[in-house]
Amino acid sequence: MESARGSVTLRAVHRVIPWLIFPVTVSAVIGGATVALAADVSASLVVGLATFASVVVVVTLERVRPFRAEWNRPRGDLVTDALYLPTFLGVNALVEPVVRVVAVAVGVAISGAIGMGMWPTEWPVLAQLAVACVVVELFDYWPHRWLHEVPSLWRFHAIHHNPQRLYWLNATRSHPVEIAFRGVINVIPLALLGAGESVLALVALTNSVLGLFQHANIDFEMGPLTWIFSVGEMHRWHHSVELAEANANYGSNFLFWDVVFGTRYRDRSRPGPAAIGIQHDDLPASWWAQLGAPFRQG
Ligand SMILES: [Zn+2]
Repeated sequence: MESARGSVTLRAVHRVIPWLIFPVTVSAVIGGATVALAADVSASLVVGLATFASVVVVVTLERVRPFRAEWNRPRGDLVTDALYLPTFLGVNALVEPVVRVVAVAVGVAISGAIGMGMWPTEWPVLAQLAVACVVVELFDYWPHRWLHEVPSLWRFHAIHHNPQRLYWLNATRSHPVEIAFRGVINVIPLALLGAGESVLALVALTNSVLGLFQHANIDFEMGPLTWIFSVGEMHRWHHSVELAEANANYGSNFLFWDVVFGTRYRDRSRPGPAAIGIQHDDLPASWWAQLGAPFRQG
């Protein structure tokens, strides 16, 4: 009797785990970071440690609960994928500070001219984070959509879409021109509006943890969260070989602008697209050759 009750409990725990993976991890990371920032821990230390912890959790879950076991096995792509990580960090480290200084200066001038601050600094920090996410997502939705719809831009974005498997390293696998293009546009709104350091740190962390869950090879459930977050199943559709499925779900972390602009896509009858990748894929395999590829085509 005891063991029968025990196995029922165990089955219930197994059923509920897929639903808990995403909300529990994200709440723990963002909640922990919010507490640390309120205790005056350095913003860069908080973002660095919390991002590292997120990578450890996601990589572990990919081993324990893979969505596709074969996606965990390298197919000659690991070195190329890994090289895009320092590429991503390096380009952002070069672009962000410069754009931020200019945008902050312009924002201060505008605030001075209209005689008021443009950012609700007196709001609770999580409410400021919510507003910041809505603003930043709008400023990423359209650049991302143009990357798909404008042929000369697609050449650069194709590098993000040509892999035939999705796992955590896909998050930073983008051409430097795309990283710079999106980085510049992303930094401007919050810097211009005058968002504070804690909010910027939490936005950066939200980008990191959701970016990991966006491409992670983890079998997890989202339920109604498929209306809010552009992660897991929802982003896999965006990586479909089929254009009708891929030219959708453009949100970088969230789907609210896809809902507004009518590009949210989900087929509930299937767990995900039949195949990941791009049609007519003639991209070279190495990182170095891929950097030059968009300039040679057409
Ligand atoms: Zn895309």
